[in-house]
Amino acid sequence: MPRYDFANILFAGPCNRFCPFCIGKQVPDSANAYNLDIFPPRNWQSFVREVNDREIGEVVFTGTTTDPHLYAYEEELIALARRDMPGIRLSIHTNGALSLRKMRVFNMYDRACISLPTFDKQTYAHMMGSSKVPDLAGILVAAKIPVKVSCVVNEHNAHQVDEFLQQLAALGLKRAVLRRLFGDRREFPVLLRHTPASYYRGNPVYNINGMEVTYWNFDTTSSRSINLFADGTIGLDYLLVREFERPAEALQLHSGTARQVAKNAREQNALRFSTENRTQNV
Ligand code: SF4
Repeated sequence: MPRYDFANILFAGPCNRFCPFCIGKQVPDSANAYNLDIFPPRNWQSFVREVNDREIGEVVFTGTTTDPHLYAYEEELIALARRDMPGIRLSIHTNGALSLRKMRVFNMYDRACISLPTFDKQTYAHMMGSSKVPDLAGILVAAKIPVKVSCVVNEHNAHQVDEFLQQLAALGLKRAVLRRLFGDRREFPVLLRHTPASYYRGNPVYNINGMEVTYWNFDTTSSRSINLFADGTIGLDYLLVREFERPAEALQLHSGTARQVAKNAREQNALRFSTENRTQNV
């Protein structure tokens, strides 16, 4: 049985940000079935069985079209996950917009990753569809768990990345990840003054003012995850969109709707999106 690094619980519904490159646009609509008020998420028991049988150590609360803080039963699902998957490490991948307001729940996770591409309001608006930049400094002060920042790099913020990393380090952040949009082969002039201190699965890792910075490349990375989609489909590919690139017969899916989902995806040519619009989610 192949080893998996982590498992994702994917939420779907309206978001409080409007990223033009949102991963949800690449996933068939049927897999983005609204689940923000469904407890537990569809096909929960099958997901739990997969995680336990495969001895997966980490479960991530994240989303295809929305932010996990918008899930109505976030606290309850954290408790249920700890009950059903004893010893599991729980993390959240969030845009951070609600993290300060939900700090008590935020601190119930074991660690957090916040998607933040810049502190500049105008650039943030270009990349996240809103000019309200989350208060990362406030979050870091209130957080009792390790926090990492994930920064998409594209034409809007590439020129600001070095300054952004200095700002993050000044706030005391210990870990950051830079990532290009999925399928984006453009090279941006970032980290040119720095030499990698090491590599993680082929990705260069830098030490910048005491902060570990990984330049992550989804196209070449070999991490593996299982994914509980909002409609109950369970997929076995790190890259969410690839779940729908392969024939349904090749997928070990447990949802009764899974084959139809994959069939629909092929029929709709759901993956024919421009490379500029591709990324992984928060
Ligand atoms: S990428 Fe994340 S934060 Fe942005 S719109 Fe999609 S779900 Fe919301």
